[in-house]
Amino acid sequence: MLNTLRKIVQEVNSAKDLKTALGIIVLRVKEAMGSQVCSVYLLDPETNRFVLMATEGLNKRSIGKVSMAPNEGLVGLVGTREEPLNLENAADHPRYRYFAETGEERFASFLGAPIIHHRRVVGVLVIQQKERRQFDEGEEAFLVTMSAQLAGVIAHAEATGSIRGLGRQGKGIQEAKFVGVPGSPGAAVGKAVVMLPPADLDVVPDKSVDDIDAELKLFNNALEGVREDMRNLSAKLATQLRPEERALFDVYLMMLEDAALGGEVVQVIKTGQWAQGALRQVVGEHVNRFELMDDAYLRERASDVKDLGRRLLAYLQEARQLSLVYPDNTILISEELTPAMLGEVPEGKLVGLLSVLGSGNSHVAILARAMGIPTVMGLVDLPYSKVDGIDMIVDGYKGEVYTNPSDVLRKQYAEVVEEERQLAQGLDALRELPCITLDGHRMPLWVNTGLLADVARAQQRGAEGVGLYRTEVPFMINQRFPSEKEQLAIYREQLAAFHPLPVTMRSLDIGGDKALSYFPIKEDNPFLGWRGIRVTLDHPEIFLVQTRAMLKASEGLNNLRILLPMISGIHELEEALHLIHRAWGEVRDEGTDVPMPPVGVMIEIPAAVYQTRELARQVDFLSVGSNDLTQYLLAVDRNNPRVADLYDYLHPAVLQALQNVVRDAHAEGKPVSICGEMAGDPAAAVLLMAMGFDSLSMNATNLPKVKWMLRQVSLSKSKELLAQAMGIDNPQVIHSSLQLALKNLGLARMIGPGVGKAL
Ligand code: PEP
Ligand code: MG
Repeated sequence: MLNTLRKIVQEVNSAKDLKTALGIIVLRVKEAMGSQVCSVYLLDPETNRFVLMATEGLNKRSIGKVSMAPNEGLVGLVGTREEPLNLENAADHPRYRYFAETGEERFASFLGAPIIHHRRVVGVLVIQQKERRQFDEGEEAFLVTMSAQLAGVIAHAEATGSIRGLGRQGKGIQEAKFVGVPGSPGAAVGKAVVMLPPADLDVVPDKSVDDIDAELKLFNNALEGVREDMRNLSAKLATQLRPEERALFDVYLMMLEDAALGGEVVQVIKTGQWAQGALRQVVGEHVNRFELMDDAYLRERASDVKDLGRRLLAYLQEARQLSLVYPDNTILISEELTPAMLGEVPEGKLVGLLSVLGSGNSHVAILARAMGIPTVMGLVDLPYSKVDGIDMIVDGYKGEVYTNPSDVLRKQYAEVVEEERQLAQGLDALRELPCITLDGHRMPLWVNTGLLADVARAQQRGAEGVGLYRTEVPFMINQRFPSEKEQLAIYREQLAAFHPLPVTMRSLDIGGDKALSYFPIKEDNPFLGWRGIRVTLDHPEIFLVQTRAMLKASEGLNNLRILLPMISGIHELEEALHLIHRAWGEVRDEGTDVPMPPVGVMIEIPAAVYQTRELARQVDFLSVGSNDLTQYLLAVDRNNPRVADLYDYLHPAVLQALQNVVRDAHAEGKPVSICGEMAGDPAAAVLLMAMGFDSLSMNATNLPKVKWMLRQVSLSKSKELLAQAMGIDNPQVIHSSLQLALKNLGLARMIGPGVGKAL
């Protein structure tokens, strides 16, 4: 059964559009289940009716014509109950409705399963049989499994269809909306540019070209290149392989011929498709055909074709890379955006970022916030390889994306972009003003940094210090561990740029989602694994070199503070303090005269929350990492888009933990700050101030917004809002009541300009 399922899903996956996909589904499911009818009904969101979209066994002329409301017929019942329905004689059921045009009367038994994608019913899959009989448990289980597997495929095919301008009924749809998770606030209207990983055939987008001859020439050059490589490889292996084994290369060479794959690609290019897209299409078809074969030997051939495809693509991309053009309003899209990709687009041309994988707390999103680029992450349903060159809107507040936007929507968002520009100008005036509440409470606003670009932004926006310098960022963009000297130079730059303001440097926090290409860590549960201080305590040489570099960099400036990430207990803190003292002794012995800097601990693991007092006693300050603390308290992976809606720093458990940390830190007489993304949320910042945090550290983009907000409220009013929030047990209600309260104070502006997110 598993094999049948796998085959069907694979075949459906390679269908070129929704109609074809549904056609394959009904045909294959009918075959696999030996039933006389298989039909798919999809819920049309516009009419809210289940429409017959494909059938094998019913009258095909009723496709697109027969439809029923959710309160009509058995299909409507399956859809509304969201449960399978298994009937021996459908006509006996009170909800049975007869559609003459389908010829349905001939079929007695009925088995229907809802097709549900991300909690939303998208349709109903039905099989029917002439004779009266109850489908057995195995059949029911098969249909349910099938529809669960197909839900994603249908959603994907549907999305692809809407991007190409085809709706369910084949009528033109101007725009389509895709929902992800907010990565970086802001709105952008622009043109999609898809960035591909090198030579990954699966993600090559479709692209129409005018100059067909140029594409043919590119492809012929690629063919020649691969042919040459094959001949060389074969010759090189002459002494190690027997001639029969080397025949493989001849097979490859044959596949490249005009009469085979090579010729097919040429034909597709001639239809106006660019060479890379044509190659993907042809190779994909061949691979699918091979993979569906029952013979294991033939199935294996699929990998040969794939290999050949990748080799050709590598040649094509070499030629392409040089001519990649970025429009002035580039919206960069990739399956998994990486920090390096951000650097590829010429300055001033990048207006938005979209990533299929990752969520709001992915590193690239953190970088995007630092750079002030509207970003949406976790767009799992976006057929991103098909969107190159089309117009798009990015709504980084709501985490939504529109393809082919209508003029009305485009105008609406253009206004939002303009409104934001004006807002940013107004906020600049705030730069020199202190962050002080209406009743005179002073709230220091610090900034989080990582890239050098952050320094200038932070200074432009009036940061009063650096609350978190993520030292792993310079490590991540390196090809190997930077030496002590190299680190010293980087740290000196940070310290000097902000001097005399304090700079809090966090010791290397790798692991989890932060990987170093030259120090790979492979684990099943990386967020519960070898991360942060755990890595550096196991590698004291890395920790010592880094600490020495920080200390030496601070000579004469004396504005360094050291922060330790991922501390889960006293023993780790003590070991780290011991190493810091050792490094301090060493640099002093070497003649560098620096005082021992203040050392702090991050509170980002629940264990640390419960040990705040013990930890506080041994350090000079505390800093809450609300990104990880939220993730660990709620057991929600901060990078998993599937559970992104459960990730909520206004969850009552998080708020209580934060309040307790402040209480316990102050009981030990130690200052406590917060440096997670929560601190940069203007509405959340009101609550954090009321809790008594001594400083808030955030990305530079949001700093003026937080300052604007805090200057408009009084500490006493914030305390009222906090008391109100702490009395609510539901995160959603906390969001809405806080939003409402701020709106009533006339402060709606900063919690969502125009199309803003709830918070
Ligand atoms: C945090 O966890 O809140 C934090 C500031 O650290 P990072 O996001 O770098 O893990
Ligand atoms: Mg963290």
